[in-house]
Amino acid sequence: MSSQDKSMSFTLHGIGVCPGIAIGQAHLISHATLEVAHLVIAPRMVEKELARFDTALMQVREELVTMRESAEQASAEIGAFVDLYSTILADPELCEVPRQIIVDRRCNAEWALVQQMEFLVGQFEQFEDPYLRERSHDVRQVVERIVKELSGKTAGRSLRLPKGVKGENLIVVAHDLAPTDLIAFKDQRFCAFITDVGGATSHTAILARSMALPAALALHNARALIRDKELLIVDGRRGVVIVNPDPRILEEYTLRKSQIELERSKLKRIKSARTATLDGIEVALHANIELPSDVPASLDGGAEGIGLFRTEFLFLGRGDMPSEDEQFEAYRKVIKGMEGRPVTIRSFDLGADKDLNPEGTLSDLGNRVKTNPALGVRAIRLCLAEPQMFLTQLRAILRASKYGKTKLLIPMLAHAHEIEATLVLLERAKESLRQEKTGFDENLEVGGMIEIPAAALAIGIFLRHLNFLSIGTNDLIQYTLAIDRSDEQVASLYDPMHPAVLMLIAHTLVNAEKANIPVSMCGELAGDLQFTRLFLGMGLRNFSMHPSQILEVKSRILVSNAAELAAPVRRILRLEDSAKIREQIERLNV
Ligand code: PEP
Ligand code: MG
Repeated sequence: MSSQDKSMSFTLHGIGVCPGIAIGQAHLISHATLEVAHLVIAPRMVEKELARFDTALMQVREELVTMRESAEQASAEIGAFVDLYSTILADPELCEVPRQIIVDRRCNAEWALVQQMEFLVGQFEQFEDPYLRERSHDVRQVVERIVKELSGKTAGRSLRLPKGVKGENLIVVAHDLAPTDLIAFKDQRFCAFITDVGGATSHTAILARSMALPAALALHNARALIRDKELLIVDGRRGVVIVNPDPRILEEYTLRKSQIELERSKLKRIKSARTATLDGIEVALHANIELPSDVPASLDGGAEGIGLFRTEFLFLGRGDMPSEDEQFEAYRKVIKGMEGRPVTIRSFDLGADKDLNPEGTLSDLGNRVKTNPALGVRAIRLCLAEPQMFLTQLRAILRASKYGKTKLLIPMLAHAHEIEATLVLLERAKESLRQEKTGFDENLEVGGMIEIPAAALAIGIFLRHLNFLSIGTNDLIQYTLAIDRSDEQVASLYDPMHPAVLMLIAHTLVNAEKANIPVSMCGELAGDLQFTRLFLGMGLRNFSMHPSQILEVKSRILVSNAAELAAPVRRILRLEDSAKIREQIERLNV
């Protein structure tokens, strides 16, 4: 792209994950830890810098030896990758050449290393063979480890802006962003973000929606093609990014942006209206939140309760576990903040794309996450494997339950013995509080997420042991269709309209109604306007979504007739072809 004209306009297409239009300047984020200081060192400091470099190499070497030892008990794949990293580390291109750069150019060690890495990566990327091209990634990984040692800590992403620079007009452009990075966005107030990879229901995308931040993922080459400070338009509904738009396009999008803002402000008028269909069926609209600081936006968005508090976000981006008191304070803050409205607190759903920080004291937990994390020790599996951690959380939730209507929701349940073990631990937590004479809600309701097909099919055990259910469509789709929800390469196969997905949802709703057990839905489909009428027709009466989606969904409910939807929805559920299902769902919405 070196010959690219500075103002050349081009368009990139990806997956739109949060509707809205943003217009701003590109703010490029480098690969995780590889943004390093560029310092010219004094001649007398050269020896010291060399020693610093050598020490960091030695530490990474030792780290790899330790990993190799534990890999022997783990898996051959991990062992092979540790060996590969050791070979890369021992190559003079990486352990000798940067020393020479420190001496010749008097660069600080990090900068010398990153310069040499860029050179090596450039060479790898020219290989025809995809396997060899891919190895550039391994070189980066090894260099990241050395940079971390040099900086003496876990280096975070450079999402912090220099003093005085405001994020409001900046659009983050990154190869990839982790959920932890998005948490940092909350302070920086960027106006949008775009990435090369990622799926529509990855937790990164979910966080974008929770912050009402227009975002497009899976753009493939955005990070490589876009230059810092270039003007961008992000259309977060269609997943389109226009780089250096011409004045006519810019004008058109500026107009569209203000129309969207106007529509949003008009929706505020229905905030206090009762949520009911034209035929008088009441519907509850709740909010999904990640942090206690999301409560004001939930109330502002018209939430009648919190349907999903993803408590694992209290963990992300920090090196240690929140203590019982810290958790208690966080839960109490949400419960009190909701002023009497119900709050559903979900126990930790750590693992998969909600990474455990392997650098901190959570490393033991991190080690449980293996090569196929979505199918591994995640959510309730991790909690049951770490009963002390789980008990701490249960005690904190119970203590907070004294301050308002609280419910406990358990993610990823599939087996009867998991439900039983959870209830046993809950009883143990209650008993310990009783002994201490600490108050809590003795009748705290316990619910289970229906997000594994096995749970939807063997619904009887859930209905017998639990007080309520919540359908997690994000994982339900992932596990029903065997599609990794964060992998953009299979994103087109992640089809919420697949008949199998709709059958599982319908099966859950019908059986729960027969058993008189309340069901809500807290996956992303609950806030997707395309599906509102379909689910109303299936009998869903409690939807939980990002605060910014509530009023739009409410406006659709207010003009829908639940009784009239029942027959066409029954017909849709008999269809076996997603394309026909889509066509019929579109008809419901006209
Ligand atoms: C879901 O799976 O639909 C859900 C709500 O949980 P999460 O997105 O946190 O996995
Ligand atoms: Mg889930």
